Amino acid sequence: MKTIGLLGGMSWESTVTYYQIVNEVIKKELGGLHSAKVLLYSVDFSEIEKCQAEGDWDKSADILSEAARNLEKAGADFIVICTNTMHKVAPKIQACIGIPIIHIAEATAEVLNQKNITKVALLGTKYTMTQEFYKEKLTEAGISVLIPDDDSVEIVNNVIYNELCLGIISPQSKQKYLGIIEELSKKGAQGVILGCTEIGLLVQQEDTSLPVFDTTQIHATKAARLAIDK
Ligand code: GLU
Repeated sequence: MKTIGLLGGMSWESTVTYYQIVNEVIKKELGGLHSAKVLLYSVDFSEIEKCQAEGDWDKSADILSEAARNLEKAGADFIVICTNTMHKVAPKIQACIGIPIIHIAEATAEVLNQKNITKVALLGTKYTMTQEFYKEKLTEAGISVLIPDDDSVEIVNNVIYNELCLGIISPQSKQKYLGIIEELSKKGAQGVILGCTEIGLLVQQEDTSLPVFDTTQIHATKAARLAIDK
């Protein structure tokens, strides 16, 4: 079995879910007492968030590259960056290490292609929704992307940083998210990407009739299967 290198802590609330899923998948696939071989480097999210807010992506790339190098030195076979947003600096991190990064948006695009989804709604941080680094992975795979209007982008983003990353799960925020998903569905979305690793803590498939693609589930499942060549 290969060793998964989790680059987490962004936030730790969702890194917990990664750890659970990789172990659940290995248990399901191999049975018995099997569990995932995992190395976790969990950063201080406050430092990363400060870089984001100041637009200092180079500094955040340096912090994460150092962490990834440590995971490689410790014996990780590949890296899983446990956040959608920080894939903005994935190319820089990749350039610093000799093991592959399993890209969260590429993994998600693969699943969307399997399900023949060609138009999808994307929820995530304002960086993920409005910048190109993430959406381009989907468009390259032939999938067009719908994002919420400006006010809703703010709402979705604020709930992530002010609630979900702090472990606050609010029924009011859930209703707001479901309203935004409904709007995007009316605009022709065939599914919705939960493109922030904490959103699955707030919204699940049973809350909406629109097919839900939870990037945490997709990414962690892909990592676990890769670890055992499945
Ligand atoms: N975990 C979130 C994501 O998937 C947001 C936290 C971050 O900015 O990294 O984008």
